[in-house]
Amino acid sequence: QAKEHGRNMYQVYTTSMDDKQFQRFFMERDLRKAIMNDEFIAHFQPRVDAITGKTIGAEALIRWMHPTYGMVSPGEFIPLAEETGLIISLGKWMKRQVCEQLVTWRAANIPLIPISVNISSQRFLQSGFAQDLRDLLSEYKLDGHWIELEITENSLMKNEEYIYQTLLELKEMGVKIYIDDFGTGNSSFHYLKAFKLDGIKIDMSFIQHISCQSENAAITAAMIKMAQQLNMDVIAEGVETKEELAFLLEQNCHHIQGFYYGRPCAAMEFEKMYL
Ligand code: C2E
Ligand code: MG
Ligand code: MG
Ligand code: MG
Repeated sequence: QAKEHGRNMYQVYTTSMDDKQFQRFFMERDLRKAIMNDEFIAHFQPRVDAITGKTIGAEALIRWMHPTYGMVSPGEFIPLAEETGLIISLGKWMKRQVCEQLVTWRAANIPLIPISVNISSQRFLQSGFAQDLRDLLSEYKLDGHWIELEITENSLMKNEEYIYQTLLELKEMGVKIYIDDFGTGNSSFHYLKAFKLDGIKIDMSFIQHISCQSENAAITAAMIKMAQQLNMDVIAEGVETKEELAFLLEQNCHHIQGFYYGRPCAAMEFEKMYL
């Protein structure tokens, strides 16, 4: 339903203006306003160990609470935020939001779990990334292992020296790095050899139809095996059905994120259901 709101919103723009440039113009204007007026909230989706049934982490996912159109999903505004550079502000907001949430739970004596944050390659590749995070964590007196970073393959393709140094600093801070949407980027296996990363998140396009599309099953099984042989953690994303879960368990992959265990939800609901 939220998605429909979001879609309607930009359909309004397109049908009335019939011009992509105008549509972008208005969305960008609204997005700038939204940043000023703090119209965003973080939702959290559990990551579960399917063997113990315990919540072992969460992914923080941004939502835009548009004053007139309701909740807009990131798929609709993150691309424009990337193009316009507004993603830098959104990323800053999200990292702080996650720290706030962790210290709120800590103050309430709720046992913490690591929370992962999606990092745009734009920010990751801009100097001072590790230092900024170090400052933020120390401001909140949070240990690095409570924050995990999800980066995409294209964050690892340029500027090898800088990336190497950044990953080293993050490792020293205890911050884990996952490759998000693994298998969908236009990248090579080179970086798996060059950098010591903590894990991969198998993109949901491979997980879906796993039981009826033998290609998806074969590729997923191979990705799991490779990651395990490289001593990396594997998280399967977008797991919705019992069949998908059963297949993954057979392949020895039991770190699961998906609607099967829970949809992203606001912090209050998350702590009631999963902590
Ligand atoms: P992602 O990082 O790959 O996040 C997973 C997406 O899959 C989320 O969509 C989540 O709601 C959805 N999902 C999880 N389990 C299932 C499932 O079982 N079935 C289906 N159909 N979907 C599932 P969401 O929240 O709409 O986010 C979309 C993308 O927007 C994210 O993909 C991420 O790339 C980006 N994004 C979200 N929040 C942020 C943020 O704070 N910063 C940045 N840079 N990007 C963000
Ligand atoms: Mg992600
Ligand atoms: Mg993903
Ligand atoms: Mg993504």
